[in-house]
Amino acid sequence: MKIGVVQEQQTGENRVGLVPSVVQTLCGKGHTVMVEHGAGSNAGFDDASYTEAGAQVTGRGEVIAGSDVLIRVAVPGDAEIDELRSGTSIVSYIYPKRNPELLKRLAAKGVSVYAMDAMPRTTIAQSMDVLSSQNNLAGYKAVLVAANALGSIFPMMSTAAGTLRPAKVLIYGAGVAGLQAIATAKRLGAVVEVTDIRPETKEQVESLGGKFVMVEGLDQVKVEGGYVAGAGEEILARQKEAVEKSLVKADIVITTALVAGGKAPTLITEDQVKKMKRGAVIVDMATDAGGNCAVSKPDTTVHVNGVTVIGCNNLASSVPTHASELYAKNIQTFLGHVATEAGISTDVADEIVAATLVVHNGEVRA
Ligand code: NAD
Repeated sequence: MKIGVVQEQQTGENRVGLVPSVVQTLCGKGHTVMVEHGAGSNAGFDDASYTEAGAQVTGRGEVIAGSDVLIRVAVPGDAEIDELRSGTSIVSYIYPKRNPELLKRLAAKGVSVYAMDAMPRTTIAQSMDVLSSQNNLAGYKAVLVAANALGSIFPMMSTAAGTLRPAKVLIYGAGVAGLQAIATAKRLGAVVEVTDIRPETKEQVESLGGKFVMVEGLDQVKVEGGYVAGAGEEILARQKEAVEKSLVKADIVITTALVAGGKAPTLITEDQVKKMKRGAVIVDMATDAGGNCAVSKPDTTVHVNGVTVIGCNNLASSVPTHASELYAKNIQTFLGHVATEAGISTDVADEIVAATLVVHNGEVRA
């Protein structure tokens, strides 16, 4: 199979779809890998390292024209879709539920699209799950972004000049990103409180040393395939009231909450931001899905009543070396599962193909 990797830096994405160690493994399995000049440069992988690994490093046109399968990281924009060749398979982040128009454009282009972010949440698919590998890194980085914007430090410190109290961190959502944010904030010495509406997260939060904010009625929250599929207005109102006590005392708030269906729930209103301490920092990791905080804006910092609100769409791209290494390993495992002599399997009897193949034969399947 001919596998191509394109350069994505011009669209603001620092990660690269394959790293040299994974290229070497794929070439060892008999695949041909073509990499566009400079594709890995923002992630710390130069052209020479790809050549050494066995790839052909060449121009963009040749990569696109010569590949059976194109590996990307970021959701393709209009310019990238225009470049695609009919009959090619694309493996990428797609967010199918949020991007119905994009899927129609890709279908009209005659390509097959595998959405890595639509991986089923099963044991066999875990090592192919880019949401887990990337959100884990993003959760770590969110804490550092918040720490950098805070005028105080995280740990308690007793000094000859006086004692500094530890930072109070409040985290919304204890999924992959939230759990890593808890671990990172604890390592830095903060006191961490957490809210989630999936009941099983209480134990996970406590095992990392966080305090879970209890809300009654969580047993009524619907969870499907690992995602929150529905929570009544009443539970959300109770959650808002219970968490507000922690919110008004927090130095740092990190929001990571997502629900099935694409649009993130608004969990912090503008009024609540105005009740927070001056100097507090909110990092909203859900802005690419609409945001968890009413005033946050994608990839922008806004100030409301002395509170700094940072919208972060793509934190994994800000740690591109490790993020690309893990992403590429996810892709390697995925290709190991679905690659055939002629290209990637389109047999939807396979649950991984069925979940990820969102465009095929000119039709949108998602
Ligand atoms: P996610 O990205 O869907 O959402 C992040 C978190 O937001 C979740 O914990 C969710 O419960 C929470 N949330 C939703 N509504 C909320 C609200 N109103 N208030 C507070 N929090 C709210 O979740 P995720 O990080 O992808 O992980 C969800 C679960 O799926 C985890 O248990 C994870 O371990 C599991 N998972 C399994 C696999 C696998 O087995 N292949 C892969 C990925 C994730």
